[in-house]
Amino acid sequence: MDYYKVQLDENDMPKKWYNIVPDLKTPLEPPVNPATGKVATAAELEPIFAKELIRQEMSMEQYIDIPAEVLDLYKLFRPNPLRRAVNLEKYLKTPAKIYYKYEGESPTGSHKTNSSIPQVYYNMKQGSQRLTTETGAGQWGSALAFACNHFGLECMIYMVRSSFAQKPHRKTLMNLWNGKVAASPSNLTEYGRRVLKETPDTPGTLGIAISEAVEDALSTPNTRYTLGSVLNHVMLHQTIIGLETQKQFEMIEDYPDYVIACCGGGSNFGGLAFPFVKDKMNKNLDTQIIAVEPESCPSLTQGEYRYDFGDTGQLTPKLKMYTLGCEFVPPSMHAGGLRYHGCSPIISNLYADKIITAEALGQKDVFNAGVLFSQTEGITAAPESTHAICSAINKAIECKKTGEEKTIVFNLSGHGLLDMTYYQEFLEGKIV
Ligand SMILES: *Cc1c(COP(=O)(O)O)cnc(C)c1O
Repeated sequence: MDYYKVQLDENDMPKKWYNIVPDLKTPLEPPVNPATGKVATAAELEPIFAKELIRQEMSMEQYIDIPAEVLDLYKLFRPNPLRRAVNLEKYLKTPAKIYYKYEGESPTGSHKTNSSIPQVYYNMKQGSQRLTTETGAGQWGSALAFACNHFGLECMIYMVRSSFAQKPHRKTLMNLWNGKVAASPSNLTEYGRRVLKETPDTPGTLGIAISEAVEDALSTPNTRYTLGSVLNHVMLHQTIIGLETQKQFEMIEDYPDYVIACCGGGSNFGGLAFPFVKDKMNKNLDTQIIAVEPESCPSLTQGEYRYDFGDTGQLTPKLKMYTLGCEFVPPSMHAGGLRYHGCSPIISNLYADKIITAEALGQKDVFNAGVLFSQTEGITAAPESTHAICSAINKAIECKKTGEEKTIVFNLSGHGLLDMTYYQEFLEGKIV
């Protein structure tokens, strides 16, 4: 019998996150304080981040308990089913089995709430009253606003200017949850004013918006900064996705040959992939674990592996990662959430060690895949997620050629119901 959905009972939701850092083959290189040229200490990070998040960032424990208050809020949308794309398989006439996790069921329509909830919770516990952040496509900003509103903190979001103009409804969603939103670069920070003076027409970047949010946090009392991707603690929180997926595969006695997700800063990829990476390393499996990035912002496939700043203003500690350079301004494109110059240090480490692979796909191909998925499976994916769909379809088509009955799982990181202008442009033939 074919399963459409593999349901995990609410009580079987994982109660710990998985920390891959102690399991890495090559030890992870730590963040460096650019002012001293030395490893950044916990004390140096405390003005920016909540203490518990710094502890998690540096932790060598394999599993970390999810607090009860966080589990309770997760239950609004977790566990989500492991879905099988039966109609897509039939359309493709592939012998492959295509499964996916749909993170678009969360209140904000993406996986970002898996980390915004614990980040706000630990800040609330420590007495932070206000949080700042950046947002590209608006997904992380809305996830942070949702969690801040729940736990009673103020929320200030610097939204990349090109997205601010293109996604008015994302802003409404943030406002609905009492978040304040400024188009970045803004005149609210010294760094923003400087960028506006030098390049008045810039579309903005995540790197610029991070600089603004960090400056705001450092210069405002009781305020801390939060990041929606890249850092170890964000990857940690997202592993709830892969841990659920593993349990669901156990229930149907199957196991993926391919694990696929789109990769911007890397959090939805890491979230799905890390538990499978662990298996691959421990049990010597040949699972193919693939990070998919856009051709226009190919940090893993085209970047250099070196220390670089996380932001354009060079306020953050330096991270060892694959990077296109912190000054790189990616073209303004549809998958706004993938417009980041760098990639998670953990994912970079796994990529350098060849435990995972990466591929870059073009805009037109991924949109075609998104349209086909919407028509067959009924879910209209976020432009970011269409990268994963496209890669999964390509693998399923290969299986058709070889006749192999492989099992594919991918992360459908979010829905695209606030991205309709892009689908409209695509249908009108304006995306080439
Ligand atoms: C933010 C976002 C991404 C990219 O960020 P990662 O940290 O790489 O996951 C991908 N998909 C969606 C739907 C997003 O909101």
